[in-house]
Amino acid sequence: MDLLRFTKNGIYCPKGDFYVDASGKVERNIITHAHSDHARPGHRSYLAHKSTVPLLRARLGKKIDVQSLIYGEEISINGVKVSLHPAGHIYGSSQIKVRSGGEVWVVSGDYKLEDDHLSVPFEPVKCNVFITECTFGLPVYNWPDQQKVYDQINKWWRENKDQGITSLLFGYSLGKSQRIIKNINHSIGVVFVHKTVGTMNEAIILDGGELPKTITINEKINSEDIKGNLIIAPPSITSGRIMQGLAPISMAMASGWIQTGKYYGRSKIDKGFILSDHADWDGLLHAINETRAEKVITMHGYTQELTRWLNEQGINSIEIGELMHQPFKL
Ligand SMILES: [Zn+2]
Repeated sequence: MDLLRFTKNGIYCPKGDFYVDASGKVERNIITHAHSDHARPGHRSYLAHKSTVPLLRARLGKKIDVQSLIYGEEISINGVKVSLHPAGHIYGSSQIKVRSGGEVWVVSGDYKLEDDHLSVPFEPVKCNVFITECTFGLPVYNWPDQQKVYDQINKWWRENKDQGITSLLFGYSLGKSQRIIKNINHSIGVVFVHKTVGTMNEAIILDGGELPKTITINEKINSEDIKGNLIIAPPSITSGRIMQGLAPISMAMASGWIQTGKYYGRSKIDKGFILSDHADWDGLLHAINETRAEKVITMHGYTQELTRWLNEQGINSIEIGELMHQPFKL
């Protein structure tokens, strides 16, 4: 049975008549997590984890029609059983388990294996077919111990502060920013956040998530108030008015791409920290192995490389692009 199909609108379950992380306009869309390349506007109804709902409302509008589930809770959609399981990627992120006719398929969404102390850690789900992301699906991606990275961030921030230098740390407004806020040493100084980060923090706190105190940058805050402290923001902040008067400033990026010298944005970076909310190469292989899946479908990232490697190891794998519009049966 082809429990899930791969269409131009995304992953589709014909029997249950629902999509996962769909694009375009669909009737029923199950969301793995609230990042904009997974949670898109314009769908008639949404289903997501309870902790993702406030983030979805903050990003897509308060009026969206959204049903929530907790991890492990199973519902039936047109006879197909659906449940959500922790992905450990960002707050509320979920793997989607789909069960029907004796088959289990799991859509991983984005995931990481480290416990970031804010999102519920990744839990492997046994399945017949595992649809995995592979953003960092090359052996060169091998994350350092995360506490060492937080120590590096603390050291950089402390040294800057001692010299009267403002520290500006770039990261995604949802996920990376909160992970850093949660794990750095707040005794060093005051943490300011860009308003897009502040909005996400508020949504997480509203849901009961525990985050240390930060100050959101708004019209009332001047550069003088911030100088010498730490700012956590997406790279777009560099075009904002607040940048004037912050000098001297040290700019840093926290990203998995730092490991290979690639990073997004055009800002000049003085310092890079290897910190990713995706699994590294070993993490991907470990997660795939734990699912005991008979077939692995790869998407997002180095699909060709990971698929080839898995097949060489005797694990039946195929890239999602090969399956567009074609039934895929066990
Ligand atoms: Zn994501």
